[in-house]
Formats: sequence, C-alpha cells, structure tokens
Amino acid sequence: MKYSYLFGPVPSRRLGMSLGVDLVPRKVCTLDCVYCEVGATTTLTNERKEYIPVSKIIEELTHFFKTNATAIDHITISGSGEPTLNSGIGDIVRFIKHNIKDIPLAVLTNGTLLYDKNVRDALLAADVVLPSLDAATATVFNRINRHHRSITVDQCIEGLVSFRKEFRGKIWLEIFILPGFNDTDAELDEIRQAVLRIQPDSVQLNTLDRPGTVAGLRGAAQMELERIAQLLDLENMEIIAAAPQTGSVPSCRPDAESVVIEMIARRPCTLDDLVTTLGMSAAAVKKIIDGLETADRIESVQQERGLFYQLKDK
Ligand code: SF4
Repeated sequence: MKYSYLFGPVPSRRLGMSLGVDLVPRKVCTLDCVYCEVGATTTLTNERKEYIPVSKIIEELTHFFKTNATAIDHITISGSGEPTLNSGIGDIVRFIKHNIKDIPLAVLTNGTLLYDKNVRDALLAADVVLPSLDAATATVFNRINRHHRSITVDQCIEGLVSFRKEFRGKIWLEIFILPGFNDTDAELDEIRQAVLRIQPDSVQLNTLDRPGTVAGLRGAAQMELERIAQLLDLENMEIIAAAPQTGSVPSCRPDAESVVIEMIARRPCTLDDLVTTLGMSAAAVKKIIDGLETADRIESVQQERGLFYQLKDK
C-alpha cells in the first residue's frame, strides 16, 4: 500500500524513530513562518475542518501496523502545516491511544489554536505535545511567524498556559532561533517571561539547518545558541543536537525510493540526511537520487550545510 498520510519512520532529533501522521495537506497552516522547511503557506487559515478524512488516516494506520514490524519510538501527529486545523484530530488521537498502546503518541503543533478549549481537549490523551513559541511580542511574531490575522501572540501564550494546567503529559516547548529576528535581548526576555508562565517540561532551542521559505536566512551558530541559552536561563533547556544515527537499524521500511520521496516531499534533505534515515550506503541512496533527478521529479539547491534535494514544482 502506498501511504499518502503516513511517512517514515524517520529519525527525528527529538523523538527518535518517528512515524509521521499528516493531518493536513501541504501547505495549510495558521502561520507562514519565514523559516518553514515545508515551503510557503498556500492556505493561511484558522478554519478547522476535516482537511484529510479521519477514515483515510485510520485505514493507513491500521494497514501499517498490520504489515510492518518496524521499531518506532513515537507516532507523531504533524502535517505539512498545522495538524490541529484538522477538526478530526481528537478522533485520531483516541484511535491511536486505544489501538496502538505500546508506542507513545506525540503531537507537533505551532500552538496557535490552543486558546480553543476544543483543541486542548482533543490533545489530552497524547503522551507528549511539542508546541513552538518563537516570539513573545506582536512585532516579532508578525515578522517571523507571519500569522493569520485572527491570531495574536498573547492568545497563543494564554492557550499554552491553559493547556499546561489541563494536560497531564509532557510539554516540550521549542523556540526556533533566527538571527536578526528573535535574538535581541529584549525579545528573549519577553520569551523568558512567557516560558516561566507556561512551565513546559523542557525547552528546546532549535535553529535553521535547511532552506527556509525566505532566501538569505541563516541559522544560529552553536556559540550564539549557547549565549541565548545562558540569557534565557531556564530550567530543563537544551540545544537540540543532530538527529540520531540509524544506519544500523535493519527494520526501516524496504521501499527506499518511496521513503526518499516522502521525506523530500516534506522538507529538503541532504544525501547524509537520507543515508541516516534509510540505513543504506551513500552510493545506494545516490543511485535513487540520480534516478529521481533524471525523471525530473527532484532538484538540488546548494545551502550552507550542503546540497539539499527537494521536490520539483510542476
Ligand atoms: S514552520 Fe510550522 S507553523 Fe510555521 S509555517 Fe511551517 S508548518 Fe506552519
């Protein structure tokens, strides 16, 4: 079966081997972040609806777990956009928790809809929720996250504060540092105050390491991240390290070309990224890449971290 809404499992920096479950198509989101690795938001919205039918996602999950004996650390609800926009997310969360009991469930969200009690309730059964907060003032929020007009940064922070009070699982809050956007002392101090109110279980500093939506952005250097970590001075804070190596994991899916396309469709990848994920030799992955380039399905873009492959816009 070719999966349209599942991808991986792939190694994730924060979640180990992660089976992704997409709840919205590319690229439906409440934000249009300048650093977005998925690409520019084409549907900037706050409208919740069943963008992808719950029944289709359940069909794929059921098939996957019947036919794959893959080692997975987390099932991760995410999407090529904001997954809480799918009004069926509560049904998906309940289905997974009821039927796949031995794998923890994670939800990646930008947190913008957590002000809505229905959204907070829908996530209550998850094991870990990973929201993001890149700004704490309206000006920076607008500049970096380019939000839907109905959304305010204060609303996001209040939603996260409320969710913390109601949710019994773990909250791992991500702050994406983008030099020139949210790394001033003043903004970092505002973010710090917000995090102290939210009280996440951990705070994870991340930065750009592949092409974003806007040209000319750069990721923060390790020294900059360390300075920021010192300035924020928060408990349980870490700078996220590179993805774990999985080259020796024999149980990755055998349909390597499909996984390559699935990965590249979601975000640009280097050859190393793909080798790490697939547990194959660089030569074998390169052969797949060459085939896809010859078939005009992918193209390469040179970036600071190396040559990235991305799907070709047709
Ligand atoms: S980074 Fe996340 S929240 Fe921001 S535009 Fe991309 S998908 Fe949406």
